[in-house]
Amino acid sequence: MNGSLRIGVLALQGAFREHVQMLEGLGAEVVEVRLPEELAGLDGLVIPGGESTTIMRLAHSYGLAEAIRAFQGAIFGTCAGMIVLDRDHLGLADLEVERNAYGRQVRSFEADVELAGEKRPLHGVFIRSPRIHDAGAGVEVLGELDGEPVLVREGRLLLASFHPELTDDSRVHELFLEMVEHTSRPVSGLSLIPTH
Ligand code: GLN
Repeated sequence: MNGSLRIGVLALQGAFREHVQMLEGLGAEVVEVRLPEELAGLDGLVIPGGESTTIMRLAHSYGLAEAIRAFQGAIFGTCAGMIVLDRDHLGLADLEVERNAYGRQVRSFEADVELAGEKRPLHGVFIRSPRIHDAGAGVEVLGELDGEPVLVREGRLLLASFHPELTDDSRVHELFLEMVEHTSRPVSGLSLIPTH
């Protein structure tokens, strides 16, 4: 069923190849996105981890920041991708996020994330991860580490402060594909209608 889903992975910088592999493994058709026009016809978009400052700089210079704001499908942001989507950056997610928030000593670590409604925890790889300091009322916590939210959903947005693409456990990507399926597709052929 997932075979019919077209998912874009923002491929400006960072850990995008691992998302591509995982999504292809789940049967999605994956497109690497570097230009605004490559968002056309996609059902979902992944914004990977990496360096949020670099991703934002490149996104602005390629005209992708506005295009992502206008994108209507489901979006999955991991680590730097969560920062890119927050209130202070693209402003799509109602989250206040602190970058590199785990301090210098424990910049990177692996830990089990407790998932809502699942007995089996998810092994999380945290690489200079951000921390959620404030979340709007529409934000639902799906995963926690030591009682703090690390995986959240807000409508069509899924946000992880860690890297679910760096393990073999594909549950978070499967959840994203389910969200994509339930997010209404933009009217097909929209790009043929002149907007101005
Ligand atoms: N520290 C990075 C940033 O602030 C995020 C790290 C990551 O994506 N693994 O953009």
